[in-house]
Amino acid sequence: MTRRDVIRSAAGCVAALPALAQVPAPAVTLPKLPYAFDALEPYIDAQTMEIHHDRHHKAYVDNLNKALAAQPDLSKRPVEEILRDLSSVPESMRAAVRNNGGGHVNHSLFWQTLGKPQGGPKGKLGAAINKSFGSQGAFEEKLRAAGLSVFGSGWAWVSHQEGGLQIETSPNQDGPWLQGRAPLLGIDVWEHAYYLKYQNKRADYLAAIVHVINWDFVSSRYEELSKG
Ligand code: MN
Repeated sequence: MTRRDVIRSAAGCVAALPALAQVPAPAVTLPKLPYAFDALEPYIDAQTMEIHHDRHHKAYVDNLNKALAAQPDLSKRPVEEILRDLSSVPESMRAAVRNNGGGHVNHSLFWQTLGKPQGGPKGKLGAAINKSFGSQGAFEEKLRAAGLSVFGSGWAWVSHQEGGLQIETSPNQDGPWLQGRAPLLGIDVWEHAYYLKYQNKRADYLAAIVHVINWDFVSSRYEELSKG
């Protein structure tokens, strides 16, 4: 075999590659849970975390990728950006992208905002909470009440807006992203987030989950989001 043959056969191999490359890369992948399933015990049980992450979040990822498979241009855009510009999504798949894209970004943030029990908000966020709500206790009370007020499935959110921090709610997998705002943190109040341990007692779940908010992460996120 001459050197030229080697180059030719190598080129032959390369020529065979485009067939593989035509399989579109998935738009999104399931992020790894940043801690063990049992890290939030006893507040959130390991089995709930495993099913929530490995099955529910995975289903949003798989269904979003399915919806976007025939849309290479959309697939390249960050999901947050697609959500604030849903009118650019073909109507036939808009609901699928809204629900599953929302499910993906909501849960991706949710995992990061939870962690082993630790101290409260740090630095600027602590001051902003006191300014907007009066105290940490009053803030947590308002967040719990918001979570309880959601009829059916949805989320309670804390977001940074002009004029201070706001607590708001959304149905289904909607979120502040739809209005082009990045939330600081969101509390999932779908039954799949708590039913195994708390059954119908959503109030008990909400009272528990505030113990496992990762305030280091949320405080840094606040510094980032409030810069702009
Ligand atoms: Mn969920």
